[in-house]
Amino acid sequence: MAGTRMVVVGGDAAGMSAASQARRRRDPAELEIVAFERGRHVSYSACGLPYYAGDVVKDWRDLVARTAEEFAEQDIEVRTRHEVDAIDLEARRVRVRDLDAGRVVSEPWDLLVVATGSEPLRPPIDGIDLPDVYGLSVLEDGIELRKAVDAGPERAVVVGGGYIGLEAAEALVARGVRTSLVEAGPQVMGRVDPDMGELVSQAVRDIGVELHLGEQVAAIEGDGRVRAVRTDRRTLEADLVVLGLGTRPAVGLAEASGIELGQSGAIAVNPRMQTRHDGVWAAGDCVEAHHLVSGRPVSFHLGTIANKQGRICGINIGGGYATFPGVLGTAVSRVCEVEVARTGLSEAELDGLGLEWEQAAVDSTTRAGYFPGTAPIRVKVLAERRTGRLLGAQIVGKEGAAKRIDVFATALWNAMRVGEMVNMDLSYAPPFSPVWDPVLIATRKLSEQVDRSLGDWL
Ligand SMILES: Cc1cc2nc3c(=O)[nH]c(=O)nc-3n(C[C@H](O)[C@H](O)[C@H](O)COP(=O)(O)OP(=O)(O)OC[C@H]3O[C@@H](n4cnc5c(N)ncnc54)[C@H](O)[C@@H]3O)c2cc1C
Repeated sequence: MAGTRMVVVGGDAAGMSAASQARRRRDPAELEIVAFERGRHVSYSACGLPYYAGDVVKDWRDLVARTAEEFAEQDIEVRTRHEVDAIDLEARRVRVRDLDAGRVVSEPWDLLVVATGSEPLRPPIDGIDLPDVYGLSVLEDGIELRKAVDAGPERAVVVGGGYIGLEAAEALVARGVRTSLVEAGPQVMGRVDPDMGELVSQAVRDIGVELHLGEQVAAIEGDGRVRAVRTDRRTLEADLVVLGLGTRPAVGLAEASGIELGQSGAIAVNPRMQTRHDGVWAAGDCVEAHHLVSGRPVSFHLGTIANKQGRICGINIGGGYATFPGVLGTAVSRVCEVEVARTGLSEAELDGLGLEWEQAAVDSTTRAGYFPGTAPIRVKVLAERRTGRLLGAQIVGKEGAAKRIDVFATALWNAMRVGEMVNMDLSYAPPFSPVWDPVLIATRKLSEQVDRSLGDWL
């Protein structure tokens, strides 16, 4: 590998994990590593941005896991404010724009890692480019939104009720801003089932957010500054707008250079994170993954996945052997005191696959019923009819509820049937759960239903 040059495009979770792992296995004499990042920061926690805007995290520097200077100590050269705007697969070069100096240079590579992440959706709505319209994607976005909230706006409108929109709404309310949230769909958190989404909608209303479901944003109005958001039903006054309309894989650069995409629209990779082009690797939000329950290719944008994929990519580049098995879509979030979690497939996704399924939901408590601080929790479980194969689970509840999803994620990972889960040896003490944990109660209920469906079949 003497004289090999690894170039990383995108300096966050996936790209810098790949760089660090490769460096651990190959010293600088063998492998030169250069990472290009168009922003001012690398290796930051995008997940922490709503908490910085909400003043839970006081200093944005705490969101940076490792600075460019710290990477330099590891012999990883990071060039921030450098955007890669073209990849030449034949000549093995990238064209890099130095955003501060305005210069364009051509840089060679032997191994290329595309880790360009995802980008927020910005539909062509009138007024979307006004100042005071914020997205939340990279660290600079969080810093800008925080400045805007510090300036003391009276009213804000969040557009989109996915987890980023909800976390932003929570931050705004916590900072004393009167906040409305507009969502085109019938519920917030569209990736959970409607009955679970309704609980989250209620929690959002309970913290004082004015929620408008089933409404489309028609325009953002203003004259140099944002004044209001117009929907198909009303006009909402606003001093600032936060967009949470979802994300798509940032594959423009890859696609333009001829790197093959998969069915989901993200970059196609094999389990070692290699694209179909010699020497070209990819990891993180910009790549396609295999869904372990549906068997379908998916494009999920989660830090959990990006960090693992970056690590695997770096191990392989460094001469080791590692593979990425796939994803379950396990995710947790919190809206003020209400936690929401999911793993596997939802009812709508199961319908889309044509599977027949049974579901059971139970309402229980997060601690023993008599224990101070006990709070409501709802656990919903889905399993295949007759076989009882676990297909998915969702949880909504107060403190201590969401991380129970990891039990279901582990069971799904091991392709368990709900009947096998009923007597799992889960822990118990009054401050943590009832003696029958809600996970087990829901599983037991579902297992009985599956048994009955087996009876129908016979
Ligand atoms: C507000 C918010 C909250 C989140 N909360 C959670 C959470 O709670 N849990 C969870 O699991 N995930 C969460 N995520 C998702 C998680 O942050 C992402 O999945 C993760 O950051 C993806 O890492 P990545 O390296 O693939 O891409 P990114 O983090 O998007 O990084 C890509 C980088 O590439 C740079 N780049 C792009 N194109 C170029 C180019 N042409 N040249 C140079 N540089 C380029 C970008 O500037 C960016 O810094 C959240 C995301 C956001 C925005």
